[in-house]
Amino acid sequence: MTNSNSPKISLKTYNSFQLDVSAPCIFEFDHVDALKRQIEKNGSDFILLGGGSNVLLLGDLDVPVFINRIKGTRVTSSDDKNVYITVGAGENWSDFVEYSVANNFWGLENLALIPGTVGAAPVQNIGAYGVEVESCFFSATLLDRYSCQEIIVTKQDCNFGYRESRFKSQWKDQYVILDVTFQLSRTAKPTLEYPGLKDFFSADQPIISQRAIFDRVCFLRNSKLPDPRRLPNVGSFFKNPVVQKPTFVELKEKFPNIASFAFGDDFKIAAGWLIDQAGWRGKCLNTVGMHEHQALVMVNHGGAVPNDVRALYEEIQHDVLKQYGIFLEVEPTIFPTLKV
Ligand SMILES: Cc1cc2nc3c(=O)[nH]c(=O)nc-3n(C[C@H](O)[C@H](O)[C@H](O)COP(=O)(O)OP(=O)(O)OC[C@H]3O[C@@H](n4cnc5c(N)ncnc54)[C@H](O)[C@@H]3O)c2cc1C
Repeated sequence: MTNSNSPKISLKTYNSFQLDVSAPCIFEFDHVDALKRQIEKNGSDFILLGGGSNVLLLGDLDVPVFINRIKGTRVTSSDDKNVYITVGAGENWSDFVEYSVANNFWGLENLALIPGTVGAAPVQNIGAYGVEVESCFFSATLLDRYSCQEIIVTKQDCNFGYRESRFKSQWKDQYVILDVTFQLSRTAKPTLEYPGLKDFFSADQPIISQRAIFDRVCFLRNSKLPDPRRLPNVGSFFKNPVVQKPTFVELKEKFPNIASFAFGDDFKIAAGWLIDQAGWRGKCLNTVGMHEHQALVMVNHGGAVPNDVRALYEEIQHDVLKQYGIFLEVEPTIFPTLKV
């Protein structure tokens, strides 16, 4: 475990947007006992990070930052249909997806190349190319940071939704995810409805390999999304707004080309399309801007400061609300928590 006691530690390399804010100290833990000892010593007031790829650090923090480095991947049980794999929360998500594909365990191939840790994946129920992590989530071991007790929760407990879970609401700031158990399928289960996959794999293809889906997803992601190591970003900056049918019908009448897709009984509007149409694609505000090819991704052009990030996203929210009557919700978690 690392313990840095100097008064201000830069968090620039701990968040994929590379905001250069500070925290009083950073603790990296690779075992639950180390985490418990730290809580006993310093208290339960801390901010927890994994890979820092879904956070916006919009100011200096006045509490320690704890970083989850708990490792380990093991098959915990298995039958003819499924395999159950328990993975340390600090494992790299993308590496775990590769492991599942290398072993022909189906279910996660559409979630290839998403940055971050395994422990953060259920927090916002990560999703891409028609699959969300909840579809393979079986259970998780959590540490209650106040009682230091460990509990196990199942999928039913977690209230998963579109980029939502109880970890983001009632359980926020209470539980640290220590490990996650996934239920993966031994038999082929391709999910190919999403654009980019549907048009690539033909319906009459007799066998579509898991590796082919994984490779296709990697290709699409690499061609569409800026690499955060070269152009710091947090992926999708806003959630795609979900509207009910009457609102959708109204919008479609006014804006026949609006980019949308069915979402259960409701409709998801492509936030990237709204931002693009509002004229923000490729536009900059000082140190930050919306990516020239991917309007939904805010990028740090170098030396980004929290005020520029805030000013840009507020202007976009304002414009989209004015033009379309839709409020765009910021997707990453903001620290320090905004006071309303
Ligand atoms: C280029 C790029 C592409 C992306 N593409 C996608 C995508 O396709 N789909 C998608 O859903 N997301 C995407 N993201 C967002 C991000 O990768 C995911 O949300 C990821 O799961 C974040 O993992 P992390 O370890 O970096 O979490 P962090 O950013 O460190 O933390 C995110 C939140 O989870 C909490 N948290 C972290 N670890 C734990 C834990 N062990 N226990 C409890 N809470 C915890 C933190 O407190 C914080 O609130 C993308 C990001 C980037 C930069």
